Amino acid sequence: MKRVLITGAAGFLGSHLCDRFIAEGFQVVGMDNLITGDLKNIEHLFAKEEFEFYHHDVSKFIHVSGELDYILHFASPASPIDYLKIPIQTLKVGSLGIHNCLGLAMAKGARLIIASTSEVYGDPQVHPQTEEYWGHVNPVGPRGVYDEAKRFQEAMTMAYHTYHGLETRIVRIFNTYGPRMRLNDGRVLPAFIGQALRGEDLTVFGDGSQTRSFCYVDDLVEGIYRLLMSDYAGPVNIGNPDEITIGEFAEEIIKLTGTDQKVIYKDLPKDDPTQRRPDITKAKELLGWEPKVSRSEGLKITYEYFKSLPTEELYKKEH
Ligand code: NAD
Ligand code: UDP
Repeated sequence: MKRVLITGAAGFLGSHLCDRFIAEGFQVVGMDNLITGDLKNIEHLFAKEEFEFYHHDVSKFIHVSGELDYILHFASPASPIDYLKIPIQTLKVGSLGIHNCLGLAMAKGARLIIASTSEVYGDPQVHPQTEEYWGHVNPVGPRGVYDEAKRFQEAMTMAYHTYHGLETRIVRIFNTYGPRMRLNDGRVLPAFIGQALRGEDLTVFGDGSQTRSFCYVDDLVEGIYRLLMSDYAGPVNIGNPDEITIGEFAEEIIKLTGTDQKVIYKDLPKDDPTQRRPDITKAKELLGWEPKVSRSEGLKITYEYFKSLPTEELYKKEH
């Protein structure tokens, strides 16, 4: 049985990856310090023999006994309000954390994949974004703590690949959504659905003309799985190229939730990217991957999930 370590296992994406690798017949070691994650996301796995959990901060030395075939480094605060609240931990997990994971991968002879992000492109001046674009990031702006941690993480990973011959993969993830997102994590989809469910107006930042391209979590997980099993070490965009303005997205959520809430406008956060859409030519050609779930299907599933949560979740303050 192959054995895989997933850091950030109690988070949104990490927990879906645990499910997928167990379904594929792997032994899964989940690791998380629960700084933004929640054990509820993986409690259904605790009774399984194929799953074990380490409560550990990956910015500190990592010890895992036994063999490891693969490491997926997904630990990191990911939503803007999270990484603005815990900027130093964000920089540490993207630097010390990846260094520890790379050392562990060397010791175990494991292949490692890192969760990079469309944020490495910053506020992009090339549209849509291809992997060849170097990005437009403000290192000392508020988002710099996340963007630069992820850029460093890519550089460090590539250095281990080049100089030590370690098997590595880099996935650049674009905005992803689905069940197990935290209602209060500040990201636009849970923010809008939470507001609609509480009967509040939807807060659009800026004039709503900025764009994003939203990918359903199952599609993303499929892309990550294929990339990990491929032989390509360069960065690969995984995301859904179906681009929408945030203003239009708010209208879609109002329609989906059948509420009569209004849109209200708030200040645009500093350095908020004006446009974002992945060019997925590489993923198509190298992995035969493209997203299958449309935004309307994915949003329906996600809305049902949020509706099924206990009412107190709706009023829970941020971490
Ligand atoms: P999340 O906050 O739900 O999950 C992150 C998990 O990492 C949490 O469970 C958290 O407790 C854990 N963690 C953070 N720091 C840690 C540390 N030092 N040690 C151990 N565990 C730690 O976020 P997510 O959306 O699931 O994101 C997962 C990964 O994917 C992140 O690396 C993020 O940067 C990346 N990513 C996500 C998206 C997206 O749209 N969701 C987009 C691009 C990149
Ligand atoms: N946004 C918004 N209202 C909210 C939360 C976010 O208009 O209540 C906007 C935000 O300014 C950004 C977009 O929605 O332009 C996506 O934000 P998110 O935090 O989900 O992710 P980002 O892609 O910016 O990291």
